[in-house]
Amino acid sequence: MRPTGKLHLGNYMGALANWVKLQDSAQYECYFFIADLHALTTDYADTSQIAPNTLEVVLDFLAAGLDPKRCTIFVQSWVEQHYQLPLLLGMITPLGWLERVPSYKEQQENLTGKDLTTYGFLGYPLLMASDILLYQAQYVPVGQDQQAHVELTREVARRFNQYYPKVHNGPVGTFFTDVLPPPQVLLTPSPKLPGTDGRKMSKSYGNTILMTDPEPLVRQKLKTMVTDPARIRRTDRGDPDKCPVGDLHKVFSTPETLAKVYEGCRSAGIGCIECKGWVANALVQVLEPIQTRRASFSEPQVKEILEDGSSRARVRAEQTMQQVRAAMQMTLTGEANR
Ligand code: SF4
Repeated sequence: MRPTGKLHLGNYMGALANWVKLQDSAQYECYFFIADLHALTTDYADTSQIAPNTLEVVLDFLAAGLDPKRCTIFVQSWVEQHYQLPLLLGMITPLGWLERVPSYKEQQENLTGKDLTTYGFLGYPLLMASDILLYQAQYVPVGQDQQAHVELTREVARRFNQYYPKVHNGPVGTFFTDVLPPPQVLLTPSPKLPGTDGRKMSKSYGNTILMTDPEPLVRQKLKTMVTDPARIRRTDRGDPDKCPVGDLHKVFSTPETLAKVYEGCRSAGIGCIECKGWVANALVQVLEPIQTRRASFSEPQVKEILEDGSSRARVRAEQTMQQVRAAMQMTLTGEANR
């Protein structure tokens, strides 16, 4: 997650809630990090907000229920291997692969005001590939829109493994494995979550409900939320399937409330203000335990969690880097670790 500041409900439902489930399943050894080097690819001219935003994002991680005892939470730039692997991968990655990444052109067009004709911005997919490959990750939990990035990571890993020998990974006579195993996508559900203006909830649209918003603010934001445009007067019938408030109900309300919304909206039996009040109640219920957990962490505690997580990440990443250096024969003896 990039350090963009306080996270909103779209971030929570699209990523954090799924991460907590993965952690709780105890099926996976999970690594979650603040991608501050990624932030530099676009915000290199003004880095003043990266540190304060990092703190806010980690607090939101912890508030959502990530537990540093059961997963590793770290800062990307505190783990020096994240500077090393992208450089080595850059040696073998054809320029065309990077130029073809859809977000490369898109972001250059969208983020006008910023000069993105930089080496760092073009190489951003290799930072991302390294984030995954340094941990020899089997799975990357992403939404559909991120699949292209994981595919590029797979291509880069395959290319590396073609050039450089496999390493011995067990007692003599057992088996050899690829140094950089191509990861699989673990598709995570990301429900449609509209912002207060009906567009996708996003910080850049200014239409968010933050995980830290207090109850009165949540209620106030919902009051101004757009509704089914066909329902102009109280007596007009509406359709929750054409209303952003209806979409929020589908994600957060109980089946009973949802049934009342469909019935009341389609028969004009309820007004939009009442309907919005119900969804506000559901949101406040979701947010209350999150905000209580957030308040239980102090800044020194967060720093300690990050230092501890970054140390653990460094140890794991270094294991991979030793295999990478050996495979590339970048050792004093020039011998590959066959
Ligand atoms: S009653 Fe609810 S679902 Fe129907 S238009 Fe109003 S806010 Fe939307």
